Amino acid sequence: MEYISTRGKVGGIGFVDAVLMGLADDGGLLVPKQIPQVSADTLSLWQKLSYSELALEVFSLYIDGEIPRGELKKLVNDSYATFRDEEVTPVRRLNDKLHVLELFHGPTFAFKDIALQFLGNLYSYISRERNSIIHILGATSGDTGASAIEGVRGKEGIRICILHPHGKVSKVQELQMTTVDDANVLNLSVEGNFDDCQRIIKELFADVEFKHRYHLRAINSINIARILAQTVYYFYAYFQLVNQGISGKVNFSVPTGNFGDIFAGYLAKKMGLPINKLILATNENNILERFINEGVYQPGEFHMTYSPSMDIQVASNFERYLYYLHGEDANTVTTFMDSFKQDGKIVIAADKLEQVKRDFVAYGVENDECLATIGQSHDEYGYLLDPHTACGVAAAEKLTDKGEVTVALSTAHPAKFNEAIELIQIEQTFPPQIQALFDKPQHQILVDGSNNAVKEQLLKFF
Ligand SMILES: *Cc1c(COP(=O)(O)O)cnc(C)c1O
Repeated sequence: MEYISTRGKVGGIGFVDAVLMGLADDGGLLVPKQIPQVSADTLSLWQKLSYSELALEVFSLYIDGEIPRGELKKLVNDSYATFRDEEVTPVRRLNDKLHVLELFHGPTFAFKDIALQFLGNLYSYISRERNSIIHILGATSGDTGASAIEGVRGKEGIRICILHPHGKVSKVQELQMTTVDDANVLNLSVEGNFDDCQRIIKELFADVEFKHRYHLRAINSINIARILAQTVYYFYAYFQLVNQGISGKVNFSVPTGNFGDIFAGYLAKKMGLPINKLILATNENNILERFINEGVYQPGEFHMTYSPSMDIQVASNFERYLYYLHGEDANTVTTFMDSFKQDGKIVIAADKLEQVKRDFVAYGVENDECLATIGQSHDEYGYLLDPHTACGVAAAEKLTDKGEVTVALSTAHPAKFNEAIELIQIEQTFPPQIQALFDKPQHQILVDGSNNAVKEQLLKFF
């Protein structure tokens, strides 16, 4: 399988090079040259597979022999053996119309583990195969950093440095990152906010000499391996419903930030999975809701919410959708992205807006409604939602029509966001793995928000 850039100036690279490249060298995002099609016969064969077996089949379509099947099988098995639930991503029924897909049974209790356990093992494999060191550098508002560290801690050939905004991630997220004591992990706590962290990373990656000399690699959600790993659970969830006797097309409701998770759903649908509606759930940072309803993509004023992993103004994976919306035309995408840089907005044509409305429906959840949804689900079903999942559930309740079934993706365990849960006087018992973090020593270095301060620490670490 070849990978090409949405901006048309990178083409013909294989899967491993696409993973290593992360962001395409022309500034675009990498996509498969053709999207593999899955026939109804294949779907019925896949219906009986375990999560890991299914993941192996999906990856095989996109990796196309570049990693020998035996090796790939081992990578996949190792990645999902760390999950606490036998089903990896079990589906729980709340009522006839609404099911929850629990994606938080990995080591850090958030859905990002599903992609980052795999990416960690994949990087380790690549490092061995190519006999070269991999230095991962990333910024996090909380979940990505913890997941990425957990994906590579203690692995040979890899070092990881994660920047997080000092005092601005949840307590559990901070502990998950900083209580790791492996020598290949460096946590930098940056004075500033998440945007400062991201700006520093961007500028360090833009320093091509520095990037190449230290073999810097990214872990953000634009990496194609992350998207592919996330398509698997759409298939798996669908099969679980079918195996329970639920027939017909299924809706998915997806708590959305950088558009990575919902893009994976869009890709699954394009591969042939019978998905009915893709419901895009946002919070008060509702840029994507406005795009879907009005055809104008324009970041607005930043809102603090209870679902910080969705407090995103510029959704980094959005360009991939623009590319497919415009018939895989890289020139059009380039023009749009240039105008976005210039004017800070993208306006699509009326006929394209019609298509967008066939692809997605959207709903932005306000802060009070998010908390109310957590309370209501707790009372009605005895099921505690984290605030991100609550956005997905609220959107599902709003947009599921009569006779339809919706699977709401649960992207985090509620223990990760106890700050919000406490506000509505619900007391939860932490899972023992999270409780244990509170007694462990923390390892982190506080730095000011300058490139030089970060660079200095990196040079010592490498
Ligand atoms: C990252 C994250 C999201 C958003 O996913 P995207 O792929 O960025 O759209 C939602 N919920 C949680 C808990 C997350 O960590």
